[in-house]
Amino acid sequence: MNRDILKECKRVVIKIGTNSIMKSPTKVDYHKIDRLAFVCSSLQQQGKEVVLVSSGAVGVGASTLKMDKYPSAVAEQQALASVGQSALMNLYSRFFQHYEQYVGQILMTRDIINYPNSYANCNTSINSLLDKNIIPIINENDAVSVDESGHCTKFGENDTLAAVVAELVDADLLIIMSDVDGLYDSNPHTNPDAALISYVGEIDTDILSMAGGAGSIFSTGGMETKLKAAQKMMSINKSMMIISAENPNIIFDILNGEDVGTFFKKNEAELQIQGDE
Ligand code: GLU
Repeated sequence: MNRDILKECKRVVIKIGTNSIMKSPTKVDYHKIDRLAFVCSSLQQQGKEVVLVSSGAVGVGASTLKMDKYPSAVAEQQALASVGQSALMNLYSRFFQHYEQYVGQILMTRDIINYPNSYANCNTSINSLLDKNIIPIINENDAVSVDESGHCTKFGENDTLAAVVAELVDADLLIIMSDVDGLYDSNPHTNPDAALISYVGEIDTDILSMAGGAGSIFSTGGMETKLKAAQKMMSINKSMMIISAENPNIIFDILNGEDVGTFFKKNEAELQIQGDE
């Protein structure tokens, strides 16, 4: 599949997961945050508009408070997220400043989807930052979001949040950085012959069967939530990539149209047929 369209992308949402900014469950990978800050700042300064969706509040909280495992109680997790989110933003601010780039924090809860005024207000807030050449860094508001029947304000994972943000700001491209290189036809951790799929034009049952279920070992949040994010992006005819977070410089390769990771975009031929009908 020709990837020239990726060279034209102006507004890009980049999502990075907790595992990708941590060396171990409780140790922050400062080098990774530095590389990510360099890449995002370079793109922004080249005239792109970058929105970063970053997980890590709970993980960085555990690192800050020197805990050796994640607590299971919700109240403990919320306290960790509170400590960790401010520590995470402090880290991002410092690393981005090194590249003369300002960042602004936006914390979201799921209910913005149900309230048009909240949805519009999030849009205004993100656009206002971008107009000022500031990179928005978005996470779920983990210290307050809840998952109660009749009152669910929680996303629970950031693949969905990133797709919601990408649609909200009418991004051209969503890049999901993961702990694998992309979507494989079988589990690359256990099957040495697993092959990376370069292009997906439609999320059908064959593709869904490659996800391995929620919370699979394919990646942190599971491939299933990433494929759902891809489905959302393809339904609005936007592009999505799943790539490895190992070296954030790979984002430059994506935007040069190079054949890295898995590229999701609704099949153009199919669109043409629908348009002709
Ligand atoms: N919002 C959570 C955090 O920052 C992470 C959600 C996810 O892992 O996708 O810790």
